[in-house]
Amino acid sequence: MITRHFAIAVTSPGMILRRERDLETPLGLQADETSKQGGLVSDEIIIHLIEDWLNLHGQDGFVFDGFPRTLTQAQRLEEILTKRETTLDLVLWLEVSEETVHDRIAGRLQCRRCGFTTSLTSAGFAARSVCPYCDGPLIRRNDDDASVLQTRLTEFKNKTEPLLSYYEKNDALHRIDGNRDRDAVFADIAALIENHSK
Ligand SMILES: [Zn+2]
Repeated sequence: MITRHFAIAVTSPGMILRRERDLETPLGLQADETSKQGGLVSDEIIIHLIEDWLNLHGQDGFVFDGFPRTLTQAQRLEEILTKRETTLDLVLWLEVSEETVHDRIAGRLQCRRCGFTTSLTSAGFAARSVCPYCDGPLIRRNDDDASVLQTRLTEFKNKTEPLLSYYEKNDALHRIDGNRDRDAVFADIAALIENHSK
């Protein structure tokens, strides 16, 4: 949505890793093996890939979705940005309750081929479970059972939540209520971006 409205390059670790895997680069294959075994791809690999992406696409502004996710990633990002003589204009913290997380995951569909995610409640997808981008099959994620979810919530508390105090002193930080529908959340984000590009 951000790319469409503002023509800013957006990426996420997931998008970069899928691309590396599809291109069968050594890093991509290694990361794919790690996640197949249930492990998390290391900070080192994520940062390396993000820096490469920035060098290729980050000339006219950029947005990271789901990055940084750990304190190490945030600190390394700061070093990379210092090297590029730039800083973050906005740090958006989407606050979502555990209840919302449970509800959304229960209704989530993912394309088996390209990783596109949507929800059962999104228009059209319940009746016709085909990916709009690659025609792949949309399926319920099989790793979304309760125990995996619990592990992820614990990971979030231990590794991601400390980022809030890391960015707290930074004026760029804005907290957004993510428990509302997509359009309401996007309207808030769009207003912040518009204010900053003036
Ligand atoms: Zn697809």
